Amino acid sequence: MRVFIATDLEGVGGVLLDEQVVAGSPAYEQARRLLTQEVNAAVEGALAGGASEVLVDDGHAHGFNLIYEDLHPGARYAMGRARPEWLEGLSAECEAAFFIGCHAMAGTRGAVRDHTMSSVAWHNLWMNGEPTGEIGLWAAIAGHYGVPCVLVSGCEKACREAAALVPGIETVLTKRGLSRYAAFLEPAEGVRRAIRARAEAALGKVKAIAPLQVESPVELRVEYNVTGQADQVAIIPGRERLDARTIAYRAENVIEALRLI
Ligand SMILES: [Zn+2]
Repeated sequence: MRVFIATDLEGVGGVLLDEQVVAGSPAYEQARRLLTQEVNAAVEGALAGGASEVLVDDGHAHGFNLIYEDLHPGARYAMGRARPEWLEGLSAECEAAFFIGCHAMAGTRGAVRDHTMSSVAWHNLWMNGEPTGEIGLWAAIAGHYGVPCVLVSGCEKACREAAALVPGIETVLTKRGLSRYAAFLEPAEGVRRAIRARAEAALGKVKAIAPLQVESPVELRVEYNVTGQADQVAIIPGRERLDARTIAYRAENVIEALRLI
C-alpha cells in the first residue's frame, strides 16, 4: 500500500508567529524541527498501519523545510521549489493520503494563520462555487486520482474544515486558535503520539472513506487582495475577469485548473 503525505508548516503544533514560517531565524529552525517530528510520526503510523511505500511532499513556501538528516528512513521525500506538479507523486497508485500541518482557509475566524495559498495575494478561493482552502484543494487533487484523504492534522478550525469535507476522516488537533496568532497549544509529544496512532488507525478506514469528487468542468475563482494582482493575470488568454479583483480559471478537472494559476 502506497501512502502519500502532504505537509505544510502553519498547522504544526507550536507554530504561530511570522518568524516561525519564514526561513532565516532560530524560530524557523525550531518550526522545521517540529514539522520533521510530526512527519516522522505520520510515517511511523503509516508503516505500522500496513503501508509498504510512503511518499512525503514538503509543501510550505520554498519546499525545503524538512530536516533531511533527521527524516524517518521508511519514506521518500519530495523537496525543493518549482516542481512539475502540485503534490508531485500523488497518483492513482496511492491508496491513501494524509495532510500534516494544515491551516484553515482564508477568512476563518479563530483559526491559526488562516490563509489560502498566499496571505498577501489571495483574499478568497471558490471551487465550483464553494469556498475552498488548501485542505479542499489537496483533497480534490487526491480525489481526482481516486485517493481518499484519511488523516488531517492542524488547528481546531483546520480539523473542522477537513471533517466537513471528508466524512469519517481522522483528525489530530495541534492547537486551538484564540486569534490568528495565538492559541492554546497541545503538548508536542502528545501531538506526535496522536499523529502516529491516528495515522495507523486511518489506514484501517481507507475503504470506508470516499475520495473527494469534484464535478467536471472545474472552475477555480480567485479573488485577489488588490486589483493590480488581477490586472497582472487577466492579460493571459483563457482566463475570465469577473470583477476588479476576481479571475475565473476553468478546466476539465482540478489538476488542469491548478496548472492555469
Ligand atoms: Zn504554508
